[in-house]
Amino acid sequence: MATVYLHKQNLFDNLNKISKINPNILAVIKDNAYGHGIISFSKMLKEWGINKVCVKNNDEAEVIKSLFEEIIIFFPHTGRSAKNFSYCINSLKQLKKNRHPYIHLKIDTGMHRNGILMDELEEALKIIKDKEFEVRGVFTHFCCSDETANDMFIQYERFKKIKNRVEVFCKENEIKIPYFHIANSYALDKLPDTFDYVRPGIALYGGIEGYKPVMELRADVLSSRILKKGWGCGYNKIYMSDEDIEVTTIDVGYGDGLPYFKNGCKLKDAEALGKISMDSMIIKGCFEKEVVVFDDVKEFVKNFDTITYDILVKISPRIKRKTV
Ligand SMILES: *Cc1c(COP(=O)(O)O)cnc(C)c1O
Repeated sequence: MATVYLHKQNLFDNLNKISKINPNILAVIKDNAYGHGIISFSKMLKEWGINKVCVKNNDEAEVIKSLFEEIIIFFPHTGRSAKNFSYCINSLKQLKKNRHPYIHLKIDTGMHRNGILMDELEEALKIIKDKEFEVRGVFTHFCCSDETANDMFIQYERFKKIKNRVEVFCKENEIKIPYFHIANSYALDKLPDTFDYVRPGIALYGGIEGYKPVMELRADVLSSRILKKGWGCGYNKIYMSDEDIEVTTIDVGYGDGLPYFKNGCKLKDAEALGKISMDSMIIKGCFEKEVVVFDDVKEFVKNFDTITYDILVKISPRIKRKTV
């Protein structure tokens, strides 16, 4: 059976590195912890000392609610709730309808995807005051922090203005000042100030340069054979051998969440031949036991026209996770 190994020490090294920039970390574990497995990953985070996390929705929050002091829900829906759940407010309309008392106010400073528009802030603050919501946090999200262009700093300056205004409002109304957070992974080491908390996702998992990979995918051997000269293997016989070679079939395919490929792929330990199947692929050579498909998604992604996030997040939750 294929297995996902989660390398705890690598995660801890990533957390130690991030905590040198800012020790207050909101760990983003949306989408099944970027495919790593939300429960296994959360246990490691907790062991390191993380006490606040961000998830996608209430269902994800529910699964880990006993582990953390605060769970920030990016896209809350009606359903089970709890005192340690904080709902992100993605629009004025949502704020008006909201009934959950604990919120994080998202400000649209330039990505134009979600959040209260900057000129809606006063109206939002009025609603917050009238309905006595507790604003636990205020945040924004960068659209271009992986580029060298200026956009990130424009958003950063806008956010500083928002921060000042919210602080004045809180003082005037004698309410607790929320914490401010802005930095996703790419922004971590680029900003003059990361404010109260940082909010990294992909850096935790080692999906960008400078951070260690946490996920390793290994597959088991199903069978092996000699592929004779002139034979083709797999669907449509895409790989044709011009000599007698040994080939091995291993037990992961696109049904396990790997990206589809039509003509070979470079794995950590081996070379896959021809087309990937739903539950298996054929690799070159003779293997007796476990084959490492990838142990660093930054390398594996080079086979495909996509990003590391996309590979990780799709690894099937049905594959067993083992923390090592
Ligand atoms: C996904 C997400 C993050 C984490 O982004 P990374 O690029 O993985 O660091 C942070 N904030 C918000 C609002 C997000 O949606």
